[in-house]
Amino acid sequence: MTTDTAAQAAYVVAALLFILSLAGLSQHKTSRSGVVWGIAGMVVALAATVGLASRSITTTGLVLIAVATAVGAGIGLWRARVVEMTGMPELIAIMHSLVGLAAAFVGWNGYLDVDAHLSGSLLAIHHAEVFIGVFIGAVTFTGSVVAYLKLSARINSRPLTLPGKHVLNIGALVAFVGLTAAFVARPGMGLLIAVTVIALALGAHLVASIGGGDMPVVVSMLNSYSGWAAAASGFLLANNLLIVTGALVGSSGAYLSYIMCKAMNRSFISVIAGGFGTPAAAAEEGEQGEHREINAEETAELLGNATSVIITPGYGMAVAQAQYPVAELARKLRERGVEVRFGIHPVAGRLPGHMNVLLAEANVPYDIVLEMDEINDDFAATSVVLVIGANDTVNPAATDNPSSPIAGMPVLHVWESANVIVFKRSMAAGYAGVQNPLFFRENTQMLFGDAKQRVEDILRGLDALDAPVPEMAGSR
Ligand code: NDP
Repeated sequence: MTTDTAAQAAYVVAALLFILSLAGLSQHKTSRSGVVWGIAGMVVALAATVGLASRSITTTGLVLIAVATAVGAGIGLWRARVVEMTGMPELIAIMHSLVGLAAAFVGWNGYLDVDAHLSGSLLAIHHAEVFIGVFIGAVTFTGSVVAYLKLSARINSRPLTLPGKHVLNIGALVAFVGLTAAFVARPGMGLLIAVTVIALALGAHLVASIGGGDMPVVVSMLNSYSGWAAAASGFLLANNLLIVTGALVGSSGAYLSYIMCKAMNRSFISVIAGGFGTPAAAAEEGEQGEHREINAEETAELLGNATSVIITPGYGMAVAQAQYPVAELARKLRERGVEVRFGIHPVAGRLPGHMNVLLAEANVPYDIVLEMDEINDDFAATSVVLVIGANDTVNPAATDNPSSPIAGMPVLHVWESANVIVFKRSMAAGYAGVQNPLFFRENTQMLFGDAKQRVEDILRGLDALDAPVPEMAGSR
């Protein structure tokens, strides 16, 4: 068997491992094995690629590859070990930016180092690949950098609203098409520099003009773009595995974007075209009336007398790392005969599935963790809702106020229950920068402080209560 045949066979094995990985990652129970399949696929892919490269490069080149791999793997391991769960979204965004940068470099390399055997239509296809690869890579690069800055709160999450922003985006796309035709007809470095600059500006502008509430769609969209950028590099490098892997990431990311769009009630097509964001809507700031406060002891008493409780966690639960006491609270209440369920909004937290991961980590049984659509009709018949560090995902303005930046986004109808307790540290707005009218409703009470500490206080309060008889419980 030649090195080439062995490498191609290894690529097929790696591609199958990546598919297994994706299948595994689609469910909590199998997600760990999904990660293992993915690592195994990457090891096979790297070994095969180095094996292929070893035929045509010097020993110094091989040493350089080994050093680069060791440095990259070292940085990756270090970051993965130290990153907090709350820092995952920005880590993912910055990883996407590296894929985009790599694709842009591969494209530039494809221009500077053209295979001498190419001619005629094959050469034209090569130049189109170069141009498209650089464009997708550069858009992904700056788009991901801006997403990183927004997700890590280094810049404001409010949308940038340049005058004529849609015209600018469409103009950039039209310029790209025109420049591609010109480059294929007559390749030149000036055209490649022009498309690089346009793509860098377009990527930054597309993401900067998107409001905080729409960021989940942006993250999954950039995930998809990074896949297509990798696939474009695969064509340029004539590397089948890169094409297959890029297409897997690109299509699964696109499907995730579609799911997120449905969850956010946004048009998929307008997302693809970058024609979304919240230009006309003005964020409501400041307080919108009086709010009432409650303390942990009173909350414990209310919970002790409740028949049914729904817990709706959000990003604040992740920040406070409150999932363990929250799981303990659910367990204690269930022991007392209270019906406890969790209501999970699809974009709660900063990652798709963020809350599910935290609750699974704290061993909350899967059967009491329900999706928004499964639980939204049940709030009206619920004694107490505990909103633990959630804000945008429980904001009634999304349904009541057409001019709200989050108008149209489906939210958890927590306000329909008899009592709502909101756990947060201040009256500050949520990630979308929108004030929440829920806090000023008559049936809402604010429990201020760090969510973990407050839930622990409630646990102590429950212990201190005279054990209530479940049959006598019931606040409604
Ligand atoms: P939000 O981000 O809207 O609000 C989080 C709340 O948690 C804040 O009100 C904050 O208030 C509170 N909080 C923060 N730290 C603590 C703490 N230690 N203890 C108690 N409370 C705390 O949360 P949601 O989960 O409801 O909404 C997610 C938002 O993020 C949506 O806008 C979504 O679109 C966006 N997003 C989601 C992504 C995803 O894929 N899931 C990706 C990117 C963005 P205070 O500071 O007063 O304590």
